Amino acid sequence: MKIYLNGQLVGKEQAVVSVFDHGLLYGDGVFEGIRVYGGNVFLLKDHIERLYESAKAIRLEIPISPPAMIQATKETVAANGITDGYVRLVVTRGAGSLGLDIRRTSNPQIIIIADTITLYPAEIYENGMHLITASTIRNHPAALPARIKSLNYLNNILAKIEGTDAGTVEALMLNHKGEVAECTGDNIFILKNGVLKTPSPDAGILEGITRNAVLQLAREAGIATQETTLIRHDLYVADEMFLTGTAAEVVPVVSLDGRVIGDGKPGPITRRLLELFHELTRKAE
Ligand code: PMP
Repeated sequence: MKIYLNGQLVGKEQAVVSVFDHGLLYGDGVFEGIRVYGGNVFLLKDHIERLYESAKAIRLEIPISPPAMIQATKETVAANGITDGYVRLVVTRGAGSLGLDIRRTSNPQIIIIADTITLYPAEIYENGMHLITASTIRNHPAALPARIKSLNYLNNILAKIEGTDAGTVEALMLNHKGEVAECTGDNIFILKNGVLKTPSPDAGILEGITRNAVLQLAREAGIATQETTLIRHDLYVADEMFLTGTAAEVVPVVSLDGRVIGDGKPGPITRRLLELFHELTRKAE
């Protein structure tokens, strides 16, 4: 395996960063997770845009330009012979002193890993996923905006632990107002009376690239969409529910907190959107 590290492709053992890197010491950095389908890095431009926006929001200057990052990503995928897989792009703050001051750091580290991907079990796509609501709320947007895809994922990890303890592979997170936000690594959608609904970015969520692609696919297919405030009641009485994410794609949800969603089977519009999404992955540049 060849890892891209600061302009060079190096072996796994040589791909190391300093123990003084603030990415390690403080979770100070940003990242992206991207899919490769048929040798094509899917929605790469959107991911690169979000990466640079995340970096800007934390005042991290990425030492290379977005076009150079795109090139480096494609080269890393090709060098590893990945036709279907996953790319992890990481930019750390760089090594510094044992203190929070970003002015006392240097050399942000750019890391690109192209690998195969572990997906949710096929059974979940067939029969649907079970979810619980975590008691851990999503970060308050005035504390750490969820729109920043930062290396600081403890908020999500704490909620994920609750899901794991309860025997689920994902967990729903509410925001500080008690509204539905998102899952630990996926966005959430419901269908109610033919309308596709998902929390708006104001709910304090990561604006998922898959989320946006699915919203667009739905509109093109003539399905009404709404980015709106949702509470758990809306979810409990939904006709269909699904999650979206780079790894998950579109995954049906059939129960939440022990309540059956719809008729307890993956819904027809969910299935249709998954098909449309698969088509998009096959034809997208
Ligand atoms: N929410 C969170 C918290 C995430 O980490 C992710 C990405 N794994 C998503 C939503 C889905 O975003 P995307 O579709 O861009 O992968």
